[in-house]
Amino acid sequence: MNADPDCIFCKIVAGQIPASKVFEDEELLAFHDIHPWAPVHVLVIPKLHIASLVEVGPQHGALLGRMLGLAPRLMKELGVANGFRTVINTGRDGGQEVPHLHMHVFGGPRPWAKG
Ligand code: AMP
Ligand code: ZN
Repeated sequence: MNADPDCIFCKIVAGQIPASKVFEDEELLAFHDIHPWAPVHVLVIPKLHIASLVEVGPQHGALLGRMLGLAPRLMKELGVANGFRTVINTGRDGGQEVPHLHMHVFGGPRPWAKG
């Protein structure tokens, strides 16, 4: 499925609801989390609707690689100098609330408020 009309992140991709974007290209979008758990907290998502890491197949390898590779670039651009943390919550027990694959990137001093 390319997009799910009921998915909040698909709506952000489509421009139907606003987001504070920090990066966009044909495949990926990154924006500030609306409820940040860290001084810098961005979400990196594929524009394609993939519900979770469980739905990822070999055809998505390059896409996932690009998501990971974007993290250091974004943190540098956002002034994070001393490291960051990447998290992908998957499924109910994994704490996933939005069923569209997303990678959290947390930067700034610890301790984290949550996560
Ligand atoms: P997860 O629990 O891994 O599914 O994380 C979902 C994240 O999406 C949470 O940290 C939310 O704060 C964030 N979130 C939900 N809706 C929005 C939105 N409209 N714009 C930005 N971030 C959002
Ligand atoms: Zn979606």
